[in-house]
Amino acid sequence: MQTDVLIVGAGPSGLTLACSLARAGVAFHMIDRITERSPYSRALVVQLRSLEIFNQLGIAEGLIPLGNEAGNAKLFVKRKLKVELPIFDVAYKGCRYDKALFIEQGRTEHALESCLSGFGGNAHLGHELLSFEETADGVSARCRGESDYNVEAKYIVGCDGAHSVVRHGKDIAFEGAAYAQDFILADLDIKWDQPSSAFMAFQDREGFMAIFPMKDRSRLIAARGRYHEDAPEPTLEDFREIFTRLVPYKAELSNPVWLTRFHLHHRIAKRFRSGRAMLAGDAAHIHSPVGGQGMNTGIQDAWNLGWKLAWALKSPASAEALLESYHEERHPVGESLLRTTDAAFNFVAGQGWFAKTARSWFAPWALPLGASLPPIRNRARYLVTELGISYHGSSLCGPGRGTPTPGDRMPDFEIDGRSLHALLDSVQPTVLSVSDDPAESPRWKAIQLAKPTDEQRELLGLDDHCHFLIRPDAYLAARAESLDALADATLLKHWA
Ligand SMILES: Cc1cc2nc3c(=O)[nH]c(=O)nc-3n(C[C@H](O)[C@H](O)[C@H](O)COP(=O)(O)OP(=O)(O)OC[C@H]3O[C@@H](n4cnc5c(N)ncnc54)[C@H](O)[C@@H]3O)c2cc1C
Repeated sequence: MQTDVLIVGAGPSGLTLACSLARAGVAFHMIDRITERSPYSRALVVQLRSLEIFNQLGIAEGLIPLGNEAGNAKLFVKRKLKVELPIFDVAYKGCRYDKALFIEQGRTEHALESCLSGFGGNAHLGHELLSFEETADGVSARCRGESDYNVEAKYIVGCDGAHSVVRHGKDIAFEGAAYAQDFILADLDIKWDQPSSAFMAFQDREGFMAIFPMKDRSRLIAARGRYHEDAPEPTLEDFREIFTRLVPYKAELSNPVWLTRFHLHHRIAKRFRSGRAMLAGDAAHIHSPVGGQGMNTGIQDAWNLGWKLAWALKSPASAEALLESYHEERHPVGESLLRTTDAAFNFVAGQGWFAKTARSWFAPWALPLGASLPPIRNRARYLVTELGISYHGSSLCGPGRGTPTPGDRMPDFEIDGRSLHALLDSVQPTVLSVSDDPAESPRWKAIQLAKPTDEQRELLGLDDHCHFLIRPDAYLAARAESLDALADATLLKHWA
């Protein structure tokens, strides 16, 4: 079989990439070794930046009613409520969503699959990548479905999770280490008088447990000493014991639909691209789930890569620069994610004296204080929602100055009743002209905003007229007062 892109893995990262390629009209073959979707859900949180991507794909509005809008977060130390914060209430200007969405990963995957089938694409389940090699003008892959077959593709993307065969095939190091702790998880029913939308964390000097709201039940995650490969699977009784020790409310735990244990790692691939192979999602980086970033970062890797692959196929002369910019832009995001999730993990679950003291004594007064200080609160918002991720200094940026500056995510607002992000072209760059003159050109999709409101002016950092060159993934590539200056933008040199 011949195709343009072979996508290995149909989890959230692979499905997002497939949707991005399908809407750009790129041929691909997507495989996953699973024969059916798991009824269990790993990720539970869809962050605001992912909701924005789902808005561009047209699936956000359908997904939101299927989940829980996150309520307050409550922190208990030694059975006493110490902090209650609206940490998921992250409204700010320039984003049409204001709350993270608590929803099972399976529902998110299902929405992406439906979106993909709307574009005429699908995943081939029960198909596995066995091996591949790079050829002069593509890759040649050995796959196994009902029987073994070959795929000749121009590019291969490993969205194949932590044990990525694509990463191994390219001999790319996965640098990092495993955490020492053993974690246990239960999805079950809790009968009590507490609000079902709250996220709660409970701790004492010995351990910690968190409760995450789900649509129909709750998830409990607890730390259980050091990890041993042969430790027993958790039981409902284990959770009842930990619950009674840490939680000050009476509750009945029942009907566990999933009881499991897991071992966490923090690792990042040394390169996200090697020749004609790219890595996205857990194949490229894994870390602790504190902060609910893993799936979301994979979705954004795929969104960054999709339009670049589409361009690379249309303008092969620019392929090297475009695909290298994927590593250049997303690898630092992965590195920074590992740093922040590692710090958060050690704070939440660390067993050393410093971590225990920080949890017991420092957190109860420092967290509310930090949340009340706008610079700290805004920084935390930008990190957790992933709206603050930027690609300043990327080789695809410039010219232009201001706020937003090239490399920033473009703020979203409505133009004639439609979201700017949803109006962007899926392959071509878009020029938003805040000007009396329209910016028609075959080189881009033109959108005119002749009379911006005061709020739009503030969001765009405008005194006068300006033209904004926006990438298909809703990042600003360049801004200039004249179209002639914009026509020299670095990005446009790659768009033949
Ligand atoms: C307990 C827990 C809680 C979490 N909570 C959150 C959260 O709240 N928010 C969040 O953002 N993230 C969370 N995560 C992380 C999140 O689940 C992952 O980051 C996410 O699933 C990664 O998606 P992916 O598509 O990159 O990889 P995966 O979902 O792992 O998908 C990879 C796919 O590749 C397939 N595959 C592998 N090898 C091959 C092969 N050779 N051939 C064909 N197919 C192959 C696999 O079958 C699999 O379906 C959590 C993780 C855990 C463990």
